[in-house]
Amino acid sequence: MTITRADELQQTPFGLGALGGATHDVTNQPPHPAPYDASDDVALLEGVRREGAGWAEEDLRRLGRLAGSEEAQEWADQANRHEPELRTHDRYGHRVDEVDFHPSWHHLMRTAVAEGLAGSPWADDRPGAHVARTAGGLVWGHTDAGHGCPTSMTYAAIPALRKQPELAKIYEPLLTSREYDPGLRVPTQKRGLLAGMGMTEKQGGSDVRTNTTAATPTAEPGVYTLRGHKWFTSAPMCDVFLVLAQAPGGLSCFLVPRVLPDGTRNTFRIQRLKEKLGNRSNASSEPEFDGTVAWLVGPEGQGVKTIIEMVNCTRLDCVMMSAALMRKTLVEAGHHARHRSAFGARLVDQPLMRNVLADLALESEAATTLTLRLAGAADRAVRGDAGEAAFRRIATAVGKYWVTKRGPAFTAEALECLGGNGYVEDSGMPRHYREAPLLSIWEGSGNVNALDVLRALGRDAATAQALFDELSLTRGADARLDAAVAGLKDQLAEGSQVTARRLVERMALTLQASLLVRHAPAAVADAFCATRLGGDWGHAFGTLPAGAGLDAILERALPGRE
Ligand SMILES: Cc1cc2nc3c(=O)[nH]c(=O)nc-3n(C[C@H](O)[C@H](O)[C@H](O)COP(=O)(O)OP(=O)(O)OC[C@H]3O[C@@H](n4cnc5c(N)ncnc54)[C@H](O)[C@@H]3O)c2cc1C
Repeated sequence: MTITRADELQQTPFGLGALGGATHDVTNQPPHPAPYDASDDVALLEGVRREGAGWAEEDLRRLGRLAGSEEAQEWADQANRHEPELRTHDRYGHRVDEVDFHPSWHHLMRTAVAEGLAGSPWADDRPGAHVARTAGGLVWGHTDAGHGCPTSMTYAAIPALRKQPELAKIYEPLLTSREYDPGLRVPTQKRGLLAGMGMTEKQGGSDVRTNTTAATPTAEPGVYTLRGHKWFTSAPMCDVFLVLAQAPGGLSCFLVPRVLPDGTRNTFRIQRLKEKLGNRSNASSEPEFDGTVAWLVGPEGQGVKTIIEMVNCTRLDCVMMSAALMRKTLVEAGHHARHRSAFGARLVDQPLMRNVLADLALESEAATTLTLRLAGAADRAVRGDAGEAAFRRIATAVGKYWVTKRGPAFTAEALECLGGNGYVEDSGMPRHYREAPLLSIWEGSGNVNALDVLRALGRDAATAQALFDELSLTRGADARLDAAVAGLKDQLAEGSQVTARRLVERMALTLQASLLVRHAPAAVADAFCATRLGGDWGHAFGTLPAGAGLDAILERALPGRE
C-alpha cells in the first residue's frame, strides 16, 4: 500500500481537520443575519404613523439599522455572556455595594438613553412622543432585553414622582435627560439619572400590603429613615429608587437616592445578586435598608396608588418587550428558513414550514399592533383624554396578560425553526427564549393581571365602556368578530376569579382581532379571526387552515428577504 502525505497527516494526533478543515465543506448553513434593519417591519411603521408618531420615522429607521448592526448585536451577546458582578466592599473593607458591568452593557445603555428610550418623552410636548418611545423600544428590543429594565423604570418613575412636585422639580429634568452618566455620585451633580423600584419583599411581592420595611419620620417634614429589606430590586446601580415602606399612616411610597445630597452614600446594602434564568445582562439584587434616608412621594398611606402610576408604564413596556422578542425571533426564523434546505427544497418553501412562519407572523403583528395602540392610548391619556385613559386602564392589563403569555410559546416555536442550531447559544435564540417568561412574571404575574382586569371592571364602568367603544368600531365588518364581542359581553357578567383568565384571554383576542380587521390587510385579519376567535384553531403554532393566505401573510411580515 502506498502511503500518501495526506494519510500521514491523518495519522498525526491532530488529524488533517485540525490543520485545514479539509474533512468537509460547510454548506447549507445560513449566513450571519446581521447587519439587518430591525425597523423593517411594515406593521410597526404603519402603527407608528397611525398612533401619531410618524414624525419619528426617520429616527426609528436609523435606530433599526443600528439595532441590527453586527456591533449592536455583539454588544447584546457580550453583555449577557459577561454578567454583572457585585462588589460589596472595597479593598480596605468599606462597604461600597457597587455592581460592575461589561463595557457592552454601557454601550447599550448609552444608546438607549440617547435615543429617548428612558425618561425623555416626558420632556417632549409633541403629540406621539410616548408612541415614538415605545416604537423605539420595539426596534431596539432586537438587541438585549436586560437593559430595557432600567430604561423602563426610569421612564415609568416620572408620573409617580410628579405626585410630589417639589421632588419632581429637582429630579425630573435629570431623569428626562438623554445623557447616560453612570457611577454613584450626588444625583444633582450628574448629567442624567436612572431610576429603579423596590416593592417586592420576601413575604410578598404581588401582595405588597405585606411589606414590613418600616419608614420612621425624622424631624424634617417629608424625610424618613427606612429599615428593612427588598427581595428583588433590579438595576441596583440606578441613582434613585421608588420604594414602598410602612409609615405611621400606612404603606407609602418613598424616593431613595443611593448618594445623599452631601455626597455620603445612603445605606443600600446589596446582599446578593440573583442567579436568574435569563435577563443575565441586568443585575437584580436583594438590598437592605438601615437608617436609609428617604423622601415621601405622595401622601402617607397612598403608596400603592402612587406607585401604580409607575407600574402602568412598566406594564406597557412588558407588552412592548414581548412584541420585540417575537419580531426578533421571527426575523431569525425567517432568515434561517430562507437559507436552509431540507428534503430538496428551502425550508421557507416547504408548505408546513410556511404555515409555522405565517402563524408566527400573525401573532407578531397582533402583538405589535396592540402594543402601539396601547402606547397611543397612553400618549393621549397623558394629554388629558379621559376616554383614552379609561381604555388604557383596562387594555394595558389585558395586553400585559396575553402578549407576555404568548411570548414563551412563540420564542420556543421560532427557536425550533432553526432546528438544532436554535438550541445552541451562538444563535442567540436560547437567550430570547429565557427572557420571555420574565415578562409575564414581573409587573404583575399572569393571575394578578387577570384579577386586575376584574378589579378595573368592577370599580369603574367607564373602563368596560371604553373597551366596547373600541370594539364597536368594527361592528359589522366580520361576523366572527361580531360573535366574539357578543360572547364577551355575556362572559363579562360572570366576573368570577376562577374564570378570570378565560375572560381576559377572550378580551385580548377580540381586541387584537378588531385592531387587525381595522388596520391589517384582509389576509392577516381573516386568518387571525378564523383561528383565534374560536373555530378553526389548532393548539400549536403552524396550524392555520388550508387556504389561509400564507403567501400574503409571509410577504407582508418578511418581504423579499433572499
Ligand atoms: C428578574 C426579576 C427582577 C425583578 N425586579 C424587581 C424590581 O426591580 N423591583 C421589584 O419590586 N420587584 C422585582 N421583581 C419581583 C417581581 O415583580 C415579583 O416576583 C412578582 O411581582 C411576583 O411576586 P412574588 O414573586 O412575590 O410572587 P407571589 O406574589 O407570591 O405570586 C406567586 C404566584 O401566585 C399568583 N398569585 C398571586 N396572588 C394571587 C391571587 N390572589 N390569586 C391567584 N393567584 C395569585 C401570582 O400570579 C404568581 O403566579 C423582579 C422579579 C424578577 C424575577
